[in-house]
Amino acid sequence: LYTMQKRKRVLVKFSGEALSGNNGFGIDTSILKFIADEIKSLVVQGIEVGIVIGGGNIIRGVSAAKDGIIKRTSGDYMGMLSTVINSIAMQEALEHVGMEVRVQSAIKMEAICETFIVRRAQRHLEKSRIVIFAAGTGNPFFTTDTAATLRAIEIGADMIIKATKVDGVYDRDPNKFLDAQKLHELTYERAMDDNIKVMDDTSIALAKDNNLPIVVCNMFEKGNLLKIIEGNLENCSIVR
Ligand code: UDP
Repeated sequence: LYTMQKRKRVLVKFSGEALSGNNGFGIDTSILKFIADEIKSLVVQGIEVGIVIGGGNIIRGVSAAKDGIIKRTSGDYMGMLSTVINSIAMQEALEHVGMEVRVQSAIKMEAICETFIVRRAQRHLEKSRIVIFAAGTGNPFFTTDTAATLRAIEIGADMIIKATKVDGVYDRDPNKFLDAQKLHELTYERAMDDNIKVMDDTSIALAKDNNLPIVVCNMFEKGNLLKIIEGNLENCSIVR
């Protein structure tokens, strides 16, 4: 028997909105390409990468159900389907830059992608394939942040990285308050604070119970993801 050094494994979460670029809707392929290159830079360093993408650029359950015509549960299924659309797009962009990718959906969609099976996902990761987890948790009333946290724990990721438009967590909304202070490190309890809201409470509680560190960073800063995984936490915030 021989022992192999354990490789780093991360789960990166992107919001759907990020994919739409300046359009506010749909998918901007130049952003897909940018993300694909960032993810590739991790894989070539031997890091195992799982991805979850939101669906907010297409449909969010709460907004779809706003006027009562569409039921919340149906709106949520529509939202989950949006994440599948985004995942297929991301798969294409990653293949375009030479990566091996599998999409695994929480809801069975045989003709489009694999179904989520944790052991199979593990196997793909071990073979340096990127796994994109689509359709959220497969249940209404949850978010893709919760899905990302859940999948991160299931695959035994070292951390979940929430890639956003801001470079970390602030004590209040940095877009509204000029004197907002960046918090480099915070506890799970603090992360649930109303002014901070790193993720929804369900996600944070799940991360806390399983000691999963949550990193929040700016996705548009080239090279940032790799730096963070290599231990340079200057340009992000960490919840642990
Ligand atoms: N959704 C759901 N269950 C899940 C994950 C997502 O019902 O486990 C639905 C929900 O309606 C949500 C939509 O999918 O609004 C899109 O996901 P999310 O809002 O988290 O996307 P993001 O804001 O990250 O783009």
